[in-house]
Amino acid sequence: MLKKIEYGKNYRYDSYTWEELKEIIAQDRVALLPVGSIEQHGRHLPIDADSFILEQMCIAAAEKVPKDILLLNLIPYGFCWHHIDFPGPLSVSGRHLSDFVLDITKSLAYHGIQRILIINGHGSNAPYLEDAARRTVLETNAICGSFISYNLAKKEIAEVRESEWPGGIAHACEMETSVYLYLAKERVKMDKAVKEIGFSKSKYHWIDTIGPSPVSMRTWWSTISESGVVGDATLASIKKGEIIFNAVVENLVQLIKEIKNRKIVNRKDHH
Ligand SMILES: [Zn+2]
Repeated sequence: MLKKIEYGKNYRYDSYTWEELKEIIAQDRVALLPVGSIEQHGRHLPIDADSFILEQMCIAAAEKVPKDILLLNLIPYGFCWHHIDFPGPLSVSGRHLSDFVLDITKSLAYHGIQRILIINGHGSNAPYLEDAARRTVLETNAICGSFISYNLAKKEIAEVRESEWPGGIAHACEMETSVYLYLAKERVKMDKAVKEIGFSKSKYHWIDTIGPSPVSMRTWWSTISESGVVGDATLASIKKGEIIFNAVVENLVQLIKEIKNRKIVNRKDHH
């Protein structure tokens, strides 16, 4: 079930020679750049959760539309300094992350790639990746967008969700634990899975991946969680994980097709 981005696969960006790549780029495919995170995910999930799950989603999508996509190697590290009170997190500062990703997208655009998607496996990367995507648009000839993987399947996730809102799906929660169980249940310590929703709820601020609050206010994770979990991991199941994983992959395939066929409109200077 677990997949690697195999060398020599048609969709793998870095397995071509430069001469081959010249032809591949002329096919006007969509470059997909995954960015994850290495950080604590409670006592029951490995610290690779965001990166591992994201890479599996990208490979599964690429296998379905190998000729429409160029999959780049995952960037495993993201912005997670707010988790640093727990052992494990390796954080890249937000500005570094944005600049680093921009350097990659600029290189892609220089080679003639016109369509770039940055797929994000970790919520707190989002503002920095959006910044990189917007700067890519303004500083190159490419179109570029960024998004959190799970946002592609909010409707399907809401349908299988049993945990309370807000708070049941936030971090190392019902959703992430379910998907990890589906992909590699032997790595999940379900006997240590807990429910912990420790932030103070207000009218305008809460934490929930699928239904976020109007106000974004992030605090040190150790001030809102003792276990590292925010959500209800005890409600996780393989079946839910399968549904969520497949929904994200299916919708990612649709998105790639849409971006592949999107008309790129030239600027017009009205001065
Ligand atoms: Zn996570």
